[in-house]
Amino acid sequence: MQSYDVVIIGAGAAGMMCALEASKRGRSVLILDHAAMPGEKIRISGGGRCNFTNIHASPKNFLSANPHFCISALSRYTQRDFIALVERHRIAYHEKTLGQLFCDGSARQIIDMLVSEMQGRGAELVLSTEVKDVRKTSEGFVLTLSTGTVACQSLVVACGGKSIPKMGATGFGYELAERFGLAIVETRPALVPLTFDAKTLERLAPLAGNAVDAEVACGKARFSEAMLFTHRGVSGPSILQISSYWREGDEIRITMLPGVDVADLIRAAKRGNGRQAVQTVLANHLPKRLAQSIAERTGIDGNLADLSDAQIKTVDAAVNDWRIKPAGSEGYRTAEVTLGGVDTSGLDQKTMQAKSVPGLFFIGEAVDVTGWLGGYNFQWAWSSGWVAGQAA
Ligand code: FAD
Repeated sequence: MQSYDVVIIGAGAAGMMCALEASKRGRSVLILDHAAMPGEKIRISGGGRCNFTNIHASPKNFLSANPHFCISALSRYTQRDFIALVERHRIAYHEKTLGQLFCDGSARQIIDMLVSEMQGRGAELVLSTEVKDVRKTSEGFVLTLSTGTVACQSLVVACGGKSIPKMGATGFGYELAERFGLAIVETRPALVPLTFDAKTLERLAPLAGNAVDAEVACGKARFSEAMLFTHRGVSGPSILQISSYWREGDEIRITMLPGVDVADLIRAAKRGNGRQAVQTVLANHLPKRLAQSIAERTGIDGNLADLSDAQIKTVDAAVNDWRIKPAGSEGYRTAEVTLGGVDTSGLDQKTMQAKSVPGLFFIGEAVDVTGWLGGYNFQWAWSSGWVAGQAA
């Protein structure tokens, strides 16, 4: 039976970072994946350009039952460290918005960089291989694979989350964690479009395709980014962000013209030309179809000259305090990440090692640490993979 110092299940972002770091330390490393190619999620990320990190990444950009857990890994391997690696490989990149760094070329450059780094240091990459069983022994672990049996001292679980099952996401990491007695924080799709019930959809369907730069809030969370009306509900960065905080039954609050006093706007327009309709004024600031829909929703579509102050306030609220209850989300089919996962209370924050099972590590999205949209999830994969790579 072939024996390694470290076996890593999952050749995604976190697994490959861990493999290259453990190999650097002279450990013999096998990294295996059931997919035919490594880093498939990296390949499709950021619209094919991979938003590989965020200049402003800090623990406050992450959700977890223990918000302090991620501090150690994020400070030991920072966005600056990953940027330095990207620069060493002469991969050109740019900041798109809000500190989000993307490749100028293709996300494949990030995959090639990780594969060449880890293989250059001797890590063995084995693809199209299933893990059938994992057993703990006195020396470490024995894995039964579809291709044979391997043993290792340290086992790193880097299987990712449940999002996009058609790309091979399985939830296998959670099963393994439970088998070894670790708790799981309930998982749910996150960074996912929200959907409406049939009645609301009927009303809003004509808006599909329209986008606004909105502020979207749910509870205390709020995000100001683009919002897009779809055939199923709403999407776009601000909605994806808020979906991580939204729970069934919650309403979301949408400000479609942040920083604009809509009542003042209408009063000024009324003084200028009282014969125009409210939707004409709104259409100067919002897509025409949306302005029309707001007039329909409020039932206020007469001339500005005839509007009472109460009606002006109603329009103001319809634009800047629109409250709506999504019926659900598009689920794991389109979710960018999985919220929840391996409970961090069972892991050592400095190494990602299970406290109760020496030699067993969990990294990346499988762990209950979920980033905002904008490069934060990859940064967590790099940071958690790196710290495990120093210890495995
Ligand atoms: P993954 O990258 O998912 O890797 C897990 C690996 O484990 C996979 O290769 C999988 O095949 C393998 N695996 C799973 N089960 C098994 C098994 N049973 N046996 C063997 N192997 C197994 N984040 C950003 O920061 N920026 C972005 O631009 C961005 N864009 C995204 C776009 C999309 C469409 C999606 C879906 C996600 C995006 N994300 C982005 C999120 C990011 O891709 C993930 O957070 C990140 O890939 C998690 O890394 P990971 O290594 O933990 O898991």
